[in-house]
Amino acid sequence: CGIVGYIGNDNAKEILLKGLEKLEYRGYDSAGISLLTDNGVEVFKEKGRIAILREAIPAKADGHVGIGHTRWATHGAPSKRNAHPHQSSTERFTLVHNGVIENDVQLKNDYLNDFNFTSDTDTEVIVQLVELHIKKGLTVLEAFTATLKLLKGSYAIALLDKQNEDVIYVAKNKSPLLVGVGEEFNVIASDAMAMLQITDQFIELHDKEVILVSKDEVQLMDLNGNKIERAPYTAEIDA
Ligand code: GLU
Repeated sequence: CGIVGYIGNDNAKEILLKGLEKLEYRGYDSAGISLLTDNGVEVFKEKGRIAILREAIPAKADGHVGIGHTRWATHGAPSKRNAHPHQSSTERFTLVHNGVIENDVQLKNDYLNDFNFTSDTDTEVIVQLVELHIKKGLTVLEAFTATLKLLKGSYAIALLDKQNEDVIYVAKNKSPLLVGVGEEFNVIASDAMAMLQITDQFIELHDKEVILVSKDEVQLMDLNGNKIERAPYTAEIDA
């Protein structure tokens, strides 16, 4: 139901949790965050309130890159197992998703028979497809793009690669998602409200674009890799 993300120099955990708290009013059944740390990737998720998630995260957990999610279950019961972020089989890739993948069963049958699924969500198909494309020798950007081309339905997606702390991969189709721009940081949010405390500069994203969000740069392109330029707008702060 909500997505946030942060890449920069500060403590991502606190920014993500605060962002998720701003989105609580929209309703959700579970929540989770994932941080890239010196030890790789760490995932924390819980059924129920963000306060429960907050309690479950050790104080020492810290990273400068992360993504967060509040879930409103559509496929699979509300549970810790089905809470986002979801990981690919090798745990290299970690993903949050809002929306509904309509061809999830088809994609699973056609491409993912050899993969062990650890949730009952439509979402997990997306992250396993990225892994599949990597196994076939594609770069991460190519694997992400190839995966998006297979999806039918609605999505706002953020993807982390534990082998690359410099970028969050982002895309949307018929679900809201924005990039917030800052000085030496950038954020993502399904609603500007989640990040208005740290920036009022947002870049609108369009359906079926691929967006690479790094600390100092936001690159937009279409599914064929053609670059897109789009300036940020100033969000009204009346929150
Ligand atoms: N369809 C996904 C799920 O059930 C995402 C739901 C959402 O938008 O929160 O896990």
